[in-house]
Amino acid sequence: MRTWILILLCALGINLSGQNEKRPDFVLVIHGGAGTITSERYNAEHQAEYVARLTEALQAGERILASGGSALDAVVASVQVMEASPLFNAGVGAVFNAEGKNELDASIMDGKTGKAGAVAGVTTIKSPIAAARRVMDSSAHVMLAGRGAEQFAIEQKLEMVDPSYFWSEESWQEYLNVKARIEKNGRKGTVGAVALDKNGNLAAATSTGGMVYKKYGRVGDSPVIGAGTYASNESCAVSCTGHGEFFIRNSVAYDVSARMLYLGQTVEQAADYIINEKLKGLNALGGLIAVDKDGNVAMPFNTPGMFRAVVKEGGKPKVLMFR
Ligand code: ASP
Repeated sequence: MRTWILILLCALGINLSGQNEKRPDFVLVIHGGAGTITSERYNAEHQAEYVARLTEALQAGERILASGGSALDAVVASVQVMEASPLFNAGVGAVFNAEGKNELDASIMDGKTGKAGAVAGVTTIKSPIAAARRVMDSSAHVMLAGRGAEQFAIEQKLEMVDPSYFWSEESWQEYLNVKARIEKNGRKGTVGAVALDKNGNLAAATSTGGMVYKKYGRVGDSPVIGAGTYASNESCAVSCTGHGEFFIRNSVAYDVSARMLYLGQTVEQAADYIINEKLKGLNALGGLIAVDKDGNVAMPFNTPGMFRAVVKEGGKPKVLMFR
């Protein structure tokens, strides 16, 4: 009897586990950070601005995937739209460190080759995610930091800017508030994207200004492969956002993949356990986005909200902020 029911459900394309029956041609998920994102905090106008920018970022990557382009190109395109917007804590609008400067981190990983690239603490590279990709593609290293990373970007002929390019009024006010109270305030979000392309390749990218009022060359999880970013064609692609120290100590992005491979968990089970049980138990705030090799998606967060959006081949895009 049970077998017949299962055969019937399969014939109808219904899957009890909630996992994809057939791998969609492509999937793209993006995030714009997790935090105190509630409807009380964001008025209708502000919400509309976020929805518009997230939609634009999603469409930039979707266009590439829909025309048969690679997951790597798609995640870079989506992240670059958010880096160029003052609404997010990456590129323009990045939070300020304790000295009132913007120091940016970013990383990228190719699930097909296992190659990765990252930059940390950079102040004059217009698109940190573009620099991370160059480190992956055109250097023998995984991470370059500070002046060395900037020297490399100049040699690579990437666009360089004056540090004032990243300044935004909102981040500056946040800095002044935090400075005045010497404590953490509501934060704008890091940005990230994960994608699965037509050829079954996965990629992940993350870009951030880090934690507001960070000190002494502090580097968070975002440029650390396995902590803030991870991709493997065997399992999934992951981009994280939240209190970076906890994400580094718990190798969060890699743990999603490890749980899938070693424990046989679905991407949703693995991601949900890490964010809502393990990290929550440590009082570590944040969230992540993930897509697995079959196109299943997870977007858990243990904060009031997380800017996020998803699109699958043939489906309608979804753009969300709150729970
Ligand atoms: N994870 C980032 C960091 O710790 C910050 C964030 O996601 O908001 O640098």
